[in-house]
Amino acid sequence: MQAYYPGRQARLPKPALGIRFGRQARVEKPHPLLLGSDLPFNGFASCAMSAPPLPLLGQSLSALKDWAVEQGQPAYRGQQLHTWLYQRGIRSLQEVTVFPKAWREALQDYPVGRSQVVQRIEARDGTVKLLLKLADGELIETVGIPTAKRLTVCVSSQVGCPMACDFCATGKMGYRRNLKLHEILDQVLTVQEDFGRRVSHVVFMGMGEPLLNRDTVVQAIRSLNQDIGIGQRHITLSTVGVPRQIPWLAEQDLQITLAVSLHAPNQELRQQLIPSAAHYPLDALIQDCRNYMLRTGRRVSFEYTLLAGVNDLPIHARQLAHLLQQASQSGVHLHVNLIPYNPIAEVDYQRPHPARVAEFVRLLEEHHVQASVRQTRGLDGNAACGQLRGSFLRPSQSHLPPGGSDSELAPIGVAPRAPLTSARFLKSQFFPKNWQNLP
Ligand code: SAH
Repeated sequence: MQAYYPGRQARLPKPALGIRFGRQARVEKPHPLLLGSDLPFNGFASCAMSAPPLPLLGQSLSALKDWAVEQGQPAYRGQQLHTWLYQRGIRSLQEVTVFPKAWREALQDYPVGRSQVVQRIEARDGTVKLLLKLADGELIETVGIPTAKRLTVCVSSQVGCPMACDFCATGKMGYRRNLKLHEILDQVLTVQEDFGRRVSHVVFMGMGEPLLNRDTVVQAIRSLNQDIGIGQRHITLSTVGVPRQIPWLAEQDLQITLAVSLHAPNQELRQQLIPSAAHYPLDALIQDCRNYMLRTGRRVSFEYTLLAGVNDLPIHARQLAHLLQQASQSGVHLHVNLIPYNPIAEVDYQRPHPARVAEFVRLLEEHHVQASVRQTRGLDGNAACGQLRGSFLRPSQSHLPPGGSDSELAPIGVAPRAPLTSARFLKSQFFPKNWQNLP
């Protein structure tokens, strides 16, 4: 496997491929595949010649076998391709050296579905942030967070985000589009490639609101599990809450962890920080979480970004404990993950003093609510929670002093297009129409 970064050696195990070929493969032009979200997952379908082929990344083992047969090859070529796609992380079919040379060459431009790494920044703690360029030129960020035992990828689910949470850098850039299945999987493979080590955990906590791209995100979760081999219990989906989507998620029979971004213990404050909260009352959100725990038997984790003087006072801790006691009556344990605010350039919230954070934890525990403080990773690389955007910052735009670790990075830009603002978004087709009919 090719190592894409000097100094990093890819150490992924070689797949067990012992198959030898006794005949010359019949070379055929690839069959055009339908591109679009109306396909059954992993389904290939023939369609008009004008449609571009569906990228291979995201296709299941059986779909890849069918594809190989359609290409006039034995089905086991699909099995080989599955291994090379998901375990070896190929970027082009030309790299599949077990394929007959003539066939490989005929397929060299066939879309695998990998994105291009255009910038990379490594924070002092080893966290790596990658800026990826998608086929249409859009830019997203993805983050690899290593520890001795784990490699976690913080994946993006959208280009930008329409939810416009006031303290979040992604929210400040507006919404551009949903990510496609291969664009989500590519982030995991790219981090794996960069670290030369297997990804063990995936968190949908990068750019975007995953439940606004729910079908693709659930497909990605299934593929991460079945094709890349990441346990569902090692996958976390974080949402700020979109009306009617948590009940839908509960029906998907997944074993993932659901994390819900609360950030405030009452409706009034929550609405100030999260504009979309006006359309999803806190009581309804908590009720949905309670039902989710009852339906799935899985614990829900609540995220709470601590903003000094705004939502970190003792009264807020007590209110939060009271609110969550309603949810925990289901008998299922829940958990609060406190995130001390990570600075972003556009707003001047402050990170609370550690003593204030410790007091907040103590008050929650006093009220029998289990709490932990999220360790900040990648702060000096603007790679921490809420700091992701579609371009690396110039030093002048960063909250870091000039000469900080991103000082040598020039911004990468695409032609600016008007983002969908929060107000427009709430009126648009993206927001569920029937949010008023909540249980
Ligand atoms: N849209 C999803 C994923 C967002 S990022 C969601 O809202 O859950 C994951 C977490 O980081 C969310 O809880 C988000 O609110 C939080 N976050 C956003 N900006 C932050 C910041 N500047 N500092 C700390 N946490 C932040």
